Amino acid sequence: MNEFNYRDGQLYAEDCKVSDIVAEVGTPVYIYSQKTLERHFNVFDGAMGGLDHLICFSVKSNSNLAVLRLFANLGGGADIVSGGELFRCLKAGMEPNRVVFSGVGKTREEIRYALESGIMMFNVESEMELEEIQRVASEMGKIAPISFRVNPDIDPKTHPYISTGLKKNKFGVEVKQAVELYRKAAGMDAIEILGIDCHIGSQLTTLSPFEETVLKLREIVEDLEREGIQIRWIDLGGGLGITYNDETPPSPEAYAKTVRKAAEGMSQGFIFEPGRVMAGNAGILVTRVLYVKQGPVKTFIVVDAGMNDMVRPSLYGAYQEIQPVVASDAKIVADVVGPICESGDFLAKEREVPNAKPGELLSVMSAGAYGFTMASNYNSRPRPAEVMVNGEDYFVIRRRETYEDLVRGEQIPPWLS
Ligand SMILES: *Cc1c(COP(=O)(O)O)cnc(C)c1O
Repeated sequence: MNEFNYRDGQLYAEDCKVSDIVAEVGTPVYIYSQKTLERHFNVFDGAMGGLDHLICFSVKSNSNLAVLRLFANLGGGADIVSGGELFRCLKAGMEPNRVVFSGVGKTREEIRYALESGIMMFNVESEMELEEIQRVASEMGKIAPISFRVNPDIDPKTHPYISTGLKKNKFGVEVKQAVELYRKAAGMDAIEILGIDCHIGSQLTTLSPFEETVLKLREIVEDLEREGIQIRWIDLGGGLGITYNDETPPSPEAYAKTVRKAAEGMSQGFIFEPGRVMAGNAGILVTRVLYVKQGPVKTFIVVDAGMNDMVRPSLYGAYQEIQPVVASDAKIVADVVGPICESGDFLAKEREVPNAKPGELLSVMSAGAYGFTMASNYNSRPRPAEVMVNGEDYFVIRRRETYEDLVRGEQIPPWLS
């Protein structure tokens, strides 16, 4: 469910007419519904009711300060994968002790920054990283709270690029090695063992991989307890899928039920790192049709948003629903393509799409997660504006980039002058 619906033939974001927003802000533009974001958070949070838990929103899915502030106000934390994401969280007013830091390549500077800021814990992904964190924390006279990210070798049955919990993936440590690393960490003076962590993939549409994961982590936790190593938090990562097209992902309630059942009788608290399920269907990308081009074998609808603005179709062959902003039943089989000089630049391929004419607006649905955050300046295109809607109000939460923004920081060496 989301707040992008038609009224009198016009697409609305909550109580704002999308074409009115575009008239002021232009295209392409990302539009997020605050109500939808709130509802997604509250439904997830409610489903976990009674379970000691913390929701750490995955910042890489949507890192706008306004979105982070909203989740912070609702009592959420954050899952970050870089120092830049930590900076955003702090700027947005998020409690540092609700921030967990994942990722295989944390630099010394990032580790120092996270320790200075007082984050909740590091999700450690290798032995060398553990040693680096011990070294930096020790130099700073601090204790670093950690968990190990375990790679349980579970197939999430999703796109290979977003599977992360298989033996062949770069993420986490093997189960056997994890136990050895916990023993090693227990003997380190600047390390505090706080949790165990896992993230097996994204856009999961079945519950069994989650169940297997909890059972596997449970075994490890119980083994560690027998050795006198106590685990306070079990971090299950993110990964719950959403409906882009005809997927039927489990509801947060069903997910919560699975977790509860697999974790029955355990004393640990649970951390969740949802991204897509919070933000995905809370956003759209609105683009304007520039030209319609009839090729020898195909029709192309050329729009002003390209793979630099929304890369999921090009990168993963992902399906993004495309709807007209002024309701119409007229359909055509076409490719919806952007202006980028790459044949992989498309938003939809050989699909039935609205038969939109030049000047008309199209809405790329389910664009709230991994949309703007994956946008780039490829082809020297300024990145789109972002707008948040709240009832009848809307606010530009990131202004459209300018040409000056494109060259910020660039310099011509004096010998070329
Ligand atoms: C990407 C990521 C998430 C969020 O995944 P979603 O599928 O968007 O819920 C959570 N944790 C980690 C470590 C990630 O890399």
